[in-house]
Amino acid sequence: MKTFDVIIIGAGSIGVPLSFYLAKKGLKVAVLEKLASEGRGQNRAAIGGIRATHSDPAKIKICQLSIDILKKFKEEHGKEIDWVQGGYLYPVYDERTEKALKQLLVKQKKFSLNNDWIDAERVNELVPGISIKDLRGGTFSPEDGSCSPLKVIGAYFFLSEKEGVEFYFNEEVTSIEKENGKITSVTTNKDKYSAGIIINAAGAYAKEIGRLAGQDIPVNPDCHEAGITEPVQQFFKPMVVDIRPDEQSLNYYFYQNKEGQVVFCITPKPPILGTDTDNTSVFLPLVIKRMLSLYPRLRNLRIRRTWRGLYPMTPDGFPIVGYTKEIDNLFLAVGMCGQGFMLGPGLGLIASEIIADKSEKYNFITEQLSLYRNFTGAEMLK
Ligand SMILES: Cc1cc2nc3c(=O)[nH]c(=O)nc-3n(C[C@H](O)[C@H](O)[C@H](O)COP(=O)(O)OP(=O)(O)OC[C@H]3O[C@@H](n4cnc5c(N)ncnc54)[C@H](O)[C@@H]3O)c2cc1C
Repeated sequence: MKTFDVIIIGAGSIGVPLSFYLAKKGLKVAVLEKLASEGRGQNRAAIGGIRATHSDPAKIKICQLSIDILKKFKEEHGKEIDWVQGGYLYPVYDERTEKALKQLLVKQKKFSLNNDWIDAERVNELVPGISIKDLRGGTFSPEDGSCSPLKVIGAYFFLSEKEGVEFYFNEEVTSIEKENGKITSVTTNKDKYSAGIIINAAGAYAKEIGRLAGQDIPVNPDCHEAGITEPVQQFFKPMVVDIRPDEQSLNYYFYQNKEGQVVFCITPKPPILGTDTDNTSVFLPLVIKRMLSLYPRLRNLRIRRTWRGLYPMTPDGFPIVGYTKEIDNLFLAVGMCGQGFMLGPGLGLIASEIIADKSEKYNFITEQLSLYRNFTGAEMLK
């Protein structure tokens, strides 16, 4: 049996950065991944948006840390991750949305978030040519941005291996053995492992890992589709998020990445539950109609590729982070919903301090994101 200080199940948006920060603190870390390489689960489905402008203290703190890490990443580690600080823009066309976003601003200001109401003229400067009919203004947070999910996870994988993390690919965790409220070993289709601490970072399959450990974890995946265009000269910078719902969808969002490609995504209504990741024929007609009516300048862009992935959803839209009460040495970093990519670096660093240094600095995070909360709240912008 191979023995480590920490075993992480899942080499995804959370597992890979976390492995790096734990190894940097001197721990012997193994990552078990059922797929052939890092980031092949939902990390590669993410479109790359990163914002700290959430509505709750835990996610705000984690993502502020992520932004801090990612904006200095190239300088610190010499790896290109395509960080662009283009901000997040929520254009507003009706009174209801204006009221909701202005209420949220009051909350966000309490956390010193740099997010403000801007007038219609400024919206049009940031996204030149955006539909101005009924445009009332919007909120804009200039410190948010975007990165390439593929480059970020590739960079963390490189750094983790350099710190001595052992990755075991094509190894699916198939059973978890326990004794006296502790996990004693983790078995894959190929081998058996033991460690002082086991971390469930299995994303959309966190519930299955929970089941193997005899624990109910309320993470259920739903499906979202995304697409990317050919690259063109930069013509707008922010992530544009239109939160008005229509009959078949809730919000949709898009931005132009560092290579000039427009990347976009929509939230279907009602949600499509399950783990099917085949493309659908309804996605493009739905999202393109809405994007063109908001931003007609996109009309001549050719779409290169679409894909479909999973949001690992919790009932209230917030992640689950922390040790479990029933199993002493099991730590959960699951239920990232639509924000696991942006949470990954900050959460990796924070969880490494909780696990390796037994830091109590982040108790407010593990309390808010506890498995034992009642899940009756609702994240405003999930
Ligand atoms: C279309 C789309 C757009 C998105 N856009 C964004 C965005 O702009 N910004 C953002 O922050 N987030 C975005 N997301 C959400 C983001 O992709 C997820 O929240 C995030 O990837 C989840 O991270 P994770 O580490 O929990 O899961 P993953 O990255 O999926 O990692 C979990 C890993 O665990 C492995 N695993 C599972 N079961 C086992 C097992 N039994 N044994 C071994 N390994 C196992 C999986 O194979 C997987 O590699 C988007 C998602 C979609 C679908």
